[in-house]
Amino acid sequence: DYKPPPYDGPSAAEILAKRQRHLNPCMTYLYTNPLYLVDGKMQYLFDESGRRYLDAFGCIATVSCGHCHPQVLEAILNQTKKLQHTTALYLNRPIVDFAEALASKTPGDLNVVFFTNSGTEANELALLIARLYTGSHDIISLRNGYHGNASATMAATAQRNHKYNVLQTGIHHALNPDPYRGIHGSDGPKYAKDVDEIIMYGTSGRIAGFISEAIQGVGGVYELAPGYLPEVYNSVRKAGGLCIADEVQTGFARTGSHFWGFEAQGVVPDIITLAKGIGNGVPLGAVVTTPEIAKVMTSHGYLNTFGGNPVSTTAGLAVLKVIENEKLQQNASTVGTYLKNQLLDLKEKHEIIGDVRGRGFLLGIELVTDRELKTPAPLETLHVMEQMRDMGVLIGKGGVHGNIFRITPALCFTKEDADFLVATMDY
Ligand code: PLP
Repeated sequence: DYKPPPYDGPSAAEILAKRQRHLNPCMTYLYTNPLYLVDGKMQYLFDESGRRYLDAFGCIATVSCGHCHPQVLEAILNQTKKLQHTTALYLNRPIVDFAEALASKTPGDLNVVFFTNSGTEANELALLIARLYTGSHDIISLRNGYHGNASATMAATAQRNHKYNVLQTGIHHALNPDPYRGIHGSDGPKYAKDVDEIIMYGTSGRIAGFISEAIQGVGGVYELAPGYLPEVYNSVRKAGGLCIADEVQTGFARTGSHFWGFEAQGVVPDIITLAKGIGNGVPLGAVVTTPEIAKVMTSHGYLNTFGGNPVSTTAGLAVLKVIENEKLQQNASTVGTYLKNQLLDLKEKHEIIGDVRGRGFLLGIELVTDRELKTPAPLETLHVMEQMRDMGVLIGKGGVHGNIFRITPALCFTKEDADFLVATMDY
């Protein structure tokens, strides 16, 4: 029953014209016409006319607790009034408290934290640490993975529509252990052999590391085939490399069943990278590793201006508290499973749905024009998304063909929200 305050700013058309003049032209990725949003409350967004939208995309899996969550907001405002910025060259309390809180959530001796401002920076740093620590240059990532948009991360991002994955040498792309289209079906250990072959034929036999998501988000919600990571982590460690878990989307309870995505495969990485949901929308990223590995940065030095900013780390602390107090991981598990079952029922009804997959609040629905051939249906996907938007529901899309819906709402999403989402999609 939240009502946004009346809006008296410029019209959506005026804002659009200014945006077209002054901003990045890449703006029609989700819809032919972008929405003009002025207000947000928990799982809802409001446009300039006061129209309400159920945000089932969480603004790219980032608003974990809900838009303008009162506790997160209050913590940010209090800290902003006290001390907004110091750089990590000085001591401040939020950076230390949040690092300690993060370390209490990670397994083993993963308890040294480097702060960044985004997932891209976190992954760039993780790849650098792996290269410096091992003295090797070769990195293995997965085809269809997404790790960011700077030099090493663009190269590690192996999506078919990505023109930049040749920016760096020494990055190898392994077979995606994708149970839907992959040649080995759901047999994770079989896909792992490709990593052995890359190590054997494409490197000196020693590598710097391996990076992957546990569920590929931007690539279209592909959960790695079971049994894949234990085999690969074994091979990588035998070749002297570090295992890097990109938890930018899968971390912080999003998958419901676990706090970290890698836990579903029963592995413990050497480096974890974080961003998105950890700040509930405030720019914040992190690299967590062991004291032994972190030591390599003592001699090389690493610092950035904003990483660990007191306001963003305060947001991170508040997010952790809200996830715990409001039992958001349990909610992601219960409501996520409920929603997935509803979507599986929808698949029985609509021939165009080729696959429904994912966990918790990281769900994917792949549209195909032919179920046997699994032919991607990008135009139909856009059409459904625009119709759902007109009915008040926002979802995301992904995959190299843009034919996969991504459902990644705030972790407070309810069963009623799930019902509404499914009803609009069914319509
Ligand atoms: N890693 C994963 C798994 C992501 O999904 C993303 C962004 O979508 C990134 C890294 C890059 O994060 P950012 O956009 O904050 O740089």
